[in-house]
Amino acid sequence: MTYQETVWDESPSLKSYTLANFRDIPQIQKLSEQTQFEMEVIGNVLPFKVNNYVIEQLIDWNNIPNDPMFVLTFPQKGMLQPEHFEKMSDTLKTSSDKKEITNVANEIRLQLNPHPAGQMELNVPTLKDGTKLYGMQHKYKETCLFFPSQSQTCHAYCSFCFRWPQFVGMDEMKFAMKEGEQLVQYLTEHPEITDVLFTGGDPMIMKAKIFSKYIETLIDAKLPNLKTIRIGTKSLSYWPYKFLTDEDSEQMLNIFKKVTKNGLHLAFMAHFNHLIELSTNSVKRAIQEVRATGAQIRTQSPLLAHINDDADMWAKMWTKQVQLGCIPYYMFVVRDTGAQHYFGISLVKAQEIFREAYKKVSGLGRTVRGPSMSATPGKVQVDGVVKVHGEKVLALRFLQGRNPDWVQRPFFAKYDENAIWLDDLKPAFEEKFFFEDELEQKYHVKMSH
Ligand SMILES: *Cc1c(COP(=O)(O)O)cnc(C)c1O
Ligand code: SF4
Repeated sequence: MTYQETVWDESPSLKSYTLANFRDIPQIQKLSEQTQFEMEVIGNVLPFKVNNYVIEQLIDWNNIPNDPMFVLTFPQKGMLQPEHFEKMSDTLKTSSDKKEITNVANEIRLQLNPHPAGQMELNVPTLKDGTKLYGMQHKYKETCLFFPSQSQTCHAYCSFCFRWPQFVGMDEMKFAMKEGEQLVQYLTEHPEITDVLFTGGDPMIMKAKIFSKYIETLIDAKLPNLKTIRIGTKSLSYWPYKFLTDEDSEQMLNIFKKVTKNGLHLAFMAHFNHLIELSTNSVKRAIQEVRATGAQIRTQSPLLAHINDDADMWAKMWTKQVQLGCIPYYMFVVRDTGAQHYFGISLVKAQEIFREAYKKVSGLGRTVRGPSMSATPGKVQVDGVVKVHGEKVLALRFLQGRNPDWVQRPFFAKYDENAIWLDDLKPAFEEKFFFEDELEQKYHVKMSH
């Protein structure tokens, strides 16, 4: 595909497409009715939203159905197991009753492990006065996640996203908070927290005016423990105009400047799943604009079958990120929820791809860590396959742990080519992994291996 050189200061307005109007997209009308119906089946169960920038500048429509950006944003038949697919397909063919369709959808959704890694209850923090803060998660000592109620959506949805339940209305606003004051109160009560991570959805869906309220509340509180504000976002990939030509783009950049001028680090945690997302002039300009505010951009992505399971692409992507002034940060293993069976890659294979890619980049690209599973006990990295006394095993370690003392301790699992998640692994040389008893006693979580 040749990417047209777009003029960066064009100012397109955002046009979104969802299940309701995707058949209006001219490129979609060229696909068979069968394919369009398949999209509708999947789109009735899993979230679906795309926009004009992705359609016009990131997807190569001569490369359908294999184009990675197409697979990333449009529903794919394989994302539902055959029996679930049939069920929704039959329902759509025989009924136009919205309620019935939703009921069938919810029935299927509940079978897709909508709340992996104990997200619902385990990580909900409480204020000293007993108030539960459903719009926050505090799992690792130094960093808490904050879900502003106005960032419950994204500029487009990634087909693999583990946050899918909140986009289909299963979790409606459960993970959301309106008030920055409660966040400040929690940070005051927890001096061990240095980092606040704004997440969602995508916090960069917020208008500058709304986002600035949260940031100003944080800055004005002058919390001695707060060192870093992080923003987890895919806006650079899905809507770079947020920082170029949207009507409040300058105001947004000024908020970033305000953070850095006040002595806080602004860490932009940018999701890039494929090299293509770094190819347009708009994204390059947007990266420059964000960096010019004093913010640092760190990059992360899961490893995904059908989208980016290609070591060479990862090496090129990390090298390109470094060239553009971004810092490669995490490669994740896709989570045990939603369409994991479709996007999942075995841990053995993931580790091979990571190593192959890592080998090919300079030290500046080797800031990246992975492949890492965000599992219930913590972030677990697959270090590699080793032989110990003639037995092949997987070497693992925690990058983050529910208990910070678990971090950086090597441990071993039996070699298993089919394992795609921590729960699939069995301990090598012992009955239980070293952290299991504590996980069960303190957090009442039993591993299912
Ligand atoms: C990944 C993650 C963080 C941040 O971890 P870092 O290793 O500091 O980037 C914080 N909270 C949760 C729940 C996470 O999954
Ligand atoms: S942008 Fe982030 S939160 Fe939104 S769908 Fe993609 S991965 Fe999920």
